[in-house]
Parts: sequence; C-alpha cells; structure tokens
Amino acid sequence: MTSQTESTCSRCGSRCKVTAYDSVNVRENPELKAQVLDGSLFVWECPHCGARNLIRSQTLYHDPDGKLLVWLTYGSEELEERVRAAYGGIPEMKDYTLRFVDDAGSLIEKVKIFDAGLDDVVMEMAKYVTRMELCSSLKDSAEAVSSAPFKFLGIDGADGEITFAYPLDGQMQMAAVGFNVYEDCRGILKRNPAMAEAAAGFAKVDAAFVGRYFR
Ligand SMILES: [Zn+2]
Repeated sequence: MTSQTESTCSRCGSRCKVTAYDSVNVRENPELKAQVLDGSLFVWECPHCGARNLIRSQTLYHDPDGKLLVWLTYGSEELEERVRAAYGGIPEMKDYTLRFVDDAGSLIEKVKIFDAGLDDVVMEMAKYVTRMELCSSLKDSAEAVSSAPFKFLGIDGADGEITFAYPLDGQMQMAAVGFNVYEDCRGILKRNPAMAEAAAGFAKVDAAFVGRYFR
C-alpha cells in the first residue's frame, strides 16, 4: 500500500510528490524485499537535482511466511499505542515476532536477523557483549565505542562468524565475533525468562532494551 506525500528536497528545496510505502507484504510483493534490504524503499530521488532524500514515513513490514511484523514508527508513541490496542491478542499473530523500530536502518537490520534464522533479543545481547569487549581492548576510543550504535551486518562461513558495523570518528568499523558469543547469549536469555517475556508482543528490542537488564 502506498500513499502520496509532498516533501522538500534537502539539497535544492524543491517541493516534490513522493510515493511512500505505508505497508509492505513480502509474500504478495516479493520484489519489494530487495528494496527494503538495500534501503531504496526508504529514499526518494529529487527530479530536479538528483539528491537522495530519506522518506520519513511510517511503514509496516509484513513477512507472513517468516511470521515477522516490523513497524517503523519513528518513535511515535501515539502510533505504538494504537497498534498495541488494535493488534494485541489477535490469534493469527500468536506465533509472530512483533517489533517497533525507530528508523529504517533498524527495520533493515531486523529483516536480516530473522532471515538468517536468528533471534533479535540474543543479537542485541551479543552486540552488548561485543561492545564491552571492544571497549576494554580499545583504551583510547573506549568512550566513543561504548555509545556507538552497532548493527548486525551478516553471518557467514561454516563456523557462523557474525559481523557487526559501528561508526567511529566518522568511519564505519567492522567487528567480527564467533558464533559462540551468540550461543553464550542465548544461554543467558534462557536463564532470564523476564527478558523473553518483555520481548513478547510488540516490543522495541534495541540497545536500550538490553541495557535495562545488564548494567
Ligand atoms: Zn533537489
């Protein structure tokens, strides 16, 4: 489902008609999934100057086969309240993973995590652990790393090495960890049922979520 909005180009100031996706169902429109993953679904190109601008509109990503529903709300508590009231307790949603995210990058990351057959709560914990380890080894930039947003990039190799990306001094850095880090975190989650409970239903599972349990 799309809607038309008027947006102002960030470079030349032109007012343009922009088509935004209110919802994407990747079973009905599998071709849109590539546009979600490469981020182009969230960008509009100015016909006057060619600048690429971010579309800041709320989008619902629905993968009925993967039973994943991610709502890009841009932090709108009003929308999140409405969604919880309308969708909470629908039997068809019982087996679903339901998530709110604040930005397009986080939506893309969720899709990547679930496509890889991984759990996003465990992944947030693995990020937390990786960030802490980096902080203790990188003495000079420890403070910058401790607040840097980490993103899951991918998992590869027979041993399932996990790669994260994070910004430092204006550059993207990579951190790779063994799959054992993920497995250790999965073990910690099993011993903390309150975390799994908090992630049930529509939840925002991010660094702040994990930060409420680890200090
Ligand atoms: Zn422009």
